[in-house]
Amino acid sequence: MTLPSDWTQFDHAHLWHPYATITNPPPVYPVVAAEGVELILQDGRRLIDGMSSWWAAIHGYNHPVLNQAVQQQLGQMAHVMFGGLTHEPAVTLAKRLLEITPKSLDHVFFADSGSVAVEVAIKMAIQCWVGRGQPEKHKMLTVRHGYHGDTFGAMSVTDPDNGMHHLFSHTLAEQRFADAPLQDPNPDTATDLISFEQSLSQYHQEIAAVIIEPIVQGAGGMRFYRPAYLSRVAELCREYQVLLILDEIATGFGRSGTLFAAEQANIEPDILCLGKALTGGYMTLAATLVNQQVAQDICQGEAGALMHGPTFMANPLACAVANASIELLLSQDWQAQVHAIEQQLRSELEPCRNLPTVVDVRVKGAIGVVETSFRVTADIQQALVDEGVWLRPFNHLIYLMPPYIITEAQLNRLTQAIFNVLVAYGK
Ligand code: PMP
Repeated sequence: MTLPSDWTQFDHAHLWHPYATITNPPPVYPVVAAEGVELILQDGRRLIDGMSSWWAAIHGYNHPVLNQAVQQQLGQMAHVMFGGLTHEPAVTLAKRLLEITPKSLDHVFFADSGSVAVEVAIKMAIQCWVGRGQPEKHKMLTVRHGYHGDTFGAMSVTDPDNGMHHLFSHTLAEQRFADAPLQDPNPDTATDLISFEQSLSQYHQEIAAVIIEPIVQGAGGMRFYRPAYLSRVAELCREYQVLLILDEIATGFGRSGTLFAAEQANIEPDILCLGKALTGGYMTLAATLVNQQVAQDICQGEAGALMHGPTFMANPLACAVANASIELLLSQDWQAQVHAIEQQLRSELEPCRNLPTVVDVRVKGAIGVVETSFRVTADIQQALVDEGVWLRPFNHLIYLMPPYIITEAQLNRLTQAIFNVLVAYGK
């Protein structure tokens, strides 16, 4: 099939984009290449990327080390099924992940996207309690303002108000929700834990696991909360005998200032979900890690096995580039990079706080957030592109999480663009 001469018109007429309508599709910008921290548009404009393609491209684009890893693996095999077969890229990656994550984690399931990793985590928790002879423990407890993905299990534990619950209420599994953790710093720190503990004490007999994003709540509001909250959640999970699932899909691999956000609370989950930056943003791959005891109990149940096995499980190309990405990250002083980004975001986003349309400015690790009093629309996106930067605001949030390799001057272009656009729209 030949595309129409203007392929962007074909896109407009026939392609779905994330959360988009097809009746009057919002503008999309054609990208022909990406290099370092820049996206190169069809018309030759170069945009400084503030999104890392939704948390993933931590090393920037078209990186020679990652390119080489893909090319080398391509010469061996692009893919083989994982049922009944194994390969070195998957084994190396599993070994590496077990080395860098909490010690008690012991088994790795490779899924093909973050949402699927969350589905697998939920299945693991449910199957674990079946294996322990307590099948009535099959619900999840989570907190408001969470986001865990777009598949049905993941949606069921995503915020019930700003997520998609109302659209799918008849088909979604019914879960339990506690109040969201208060944002850090907050003088009145214990009230959020009261709601959480109440939910646990009331419902623990039906709850298989607590699922939560550690320290940073991402797409559910870009909110940061204190590590002490998370430590207490972990303690309560043990007290009430429910499993703890941590979703580090967005925060993993350094974004919040530590390699994994949960390190800040010094806790070990029973189940851990990773994705996004796992492959440095090159390919879709995710992982669900689980401790020995839970893994054993999953396999004690009626099924006798974990009942999941996607076609592209442990795709060798994705595993190879993930191995290269982790090596690259750990071979650099990534903490210094993230710290420098954090300092610069703090000082350069601060002036936004004085603008009349700005409700809050917050920074954590290499994540900067400007919360506005108005819902950000497509013309703001357009204005940001006109300023030469790529950001993807949603609802009331203009936020950035740039590749760690960003230079001071490039980051300054991003923060300045946000300020300029807010000034222009604040009148
Ligand atoms: N969990 C979290 C915390 C996420 O941020 C996301 C993606 N935004 C997901 C799960 C789902 O990942 P994916 O989009 O790869 O399915």
